Amino acid sequence: MELTTSAGRRRWLWTAGIAVLALVAATITWIATGRGDDDVPAASPTVSATPSEEQMLAAVDTVLKTRASAVLTGQLSQYLQNVDPANQQLRQRDQQVFANLRKLGLARLSYQVDTNWAPEPQEQHGPSARALRVLMQLQVAGIDATPRATSLGYTFAERDGRWLLVDDDDLAAESDLNAYREPWDLGAIEVARRPGVLVVVPAAERRNGERLARESQLAFPTVRAITRRTQAGILVIAMADSRSMSAEWRTGGHPAAAVAVRNFAPANPEASEFEVTGSRVVINPDQRTKAGRLLLAHEFTHAAMEPLGDRAPSWLVEGLAMYVENELAARNGYREELADQRRELLREKIPALVVLPIDGVFHGDYDEDSYGVSWVIVEYLVTKYGQRTVNALYADLARGPDDPAVREQVLRKHLKVGETALVAALKKS
Ligand SMILES: [Zn+2]
Repeated sequence: MELTTSAGRRRWLWTAGIAVLALVAATITWIATGRGDDDVPAASPTVSATPSEEQMLAAVDTVLKTRASAVLTGQLSQYLQNVDPANQQLRQRDQQVFANLRKLGLARLSYQVDTNWAPEPQEQHGPSARALRVLMQLQVAGIDATPRATSLGYTFAERDGRWLLVDDDDLAAESDLNAYREPWDLGAIEVARRPGVLVVVPAAERRNGERLARESQLAFPTVRAITRRTQAGILVIAMADSRSMSAEWRTGGHPAAAVAVRNFAPANPEASEFEVTGSRVVINPDQRTKAGRLLLAHEFTHAAMEPLGDRAPSWLVEGLAMYVENELAARNGYREELADQRRELLREKIPALVVLPIDGVFHGDYDEDSYGVSWVIVEYLVTKYGQRTVNALYADLARGPDDPAVREQVLRKHLKVGETALVAALKKS
């Protein structure tokens, strides 16, 4: 909330580029092309899924379906019935995850074995044990428009003719599974609900959750008025555990204060391609008790614009988020501070501008003024051309491609001037 102490607060990164579901790293799948093809003889070497693997997968699928329905109907004993009775730590973790998922309030939940990955033997759990990549898809009621996917590593083993879940962290070292953890995997959670928002916090921090939910309510009207976009709701994650945030979510050489993270869901049944279905906001644990309506307004703006595509230039993406944030700040008594900032930028930074701030500047060791400069540019555009035109420009640029010639063409289409003339006009203003 305080602009005067906001040096750290402004270091936000709109990062969505991390392939959350590690498709790139996918190993050779055991599903050869001949699988399911009746013409292929049973002994064909091209069929690499052995009968026992087929049996395992069928059994695992049943276990996963049982667990999903147990969560949705609130049956803890059913959720645990296929968990190794000998692994008490796993059972305790699982019980906590169950309680957490119940707290979230799920409209839908499903698990499927990710067959793009080869099952990995885990001898320490016995000869039959295999670690599998599992796609968990969940939809938070009233928040997500559709389910989003997240990856798990589950180890299953046959015990007395039954396939049991025997471990959940044998693949934990894999870089994508290790990048960040979902909040329900990080101990007991508490949630705070308000229209259009669900805030997830550690169990001991309910008051901070309620505070963030209230702050969200104060951010929404400005976000909606400017973006002219609405969404069902947004999940805000404000955990104390540093694992809730990826180390990759950095900007200017240090961790971001908060990030609007894209939600992905499989775009085809085999889950070999993914599409963006929305965004959630993850607040840096360091900032979770300081974050307020301004930071939330900034990230909610990113989330609201996200469905338009990811090709808009950073100056517009960050400039619009800063514009929303600062409009809200102006309504909250910070008009003078903003005027000072604007004056300073117009005096010291804008005259040095040759081109619009380039994308790379925002994601490297940038100088922090890029955000301020982008704010001034967007404010100028809104004042001169109106919000409707700025939003139409955004939508067109977001669609891409992010080719300089195309961007120039789109600028001319909406503003009747190209980049050079725009920068010159901005300097004169
Ligand atoms: Zn941002």
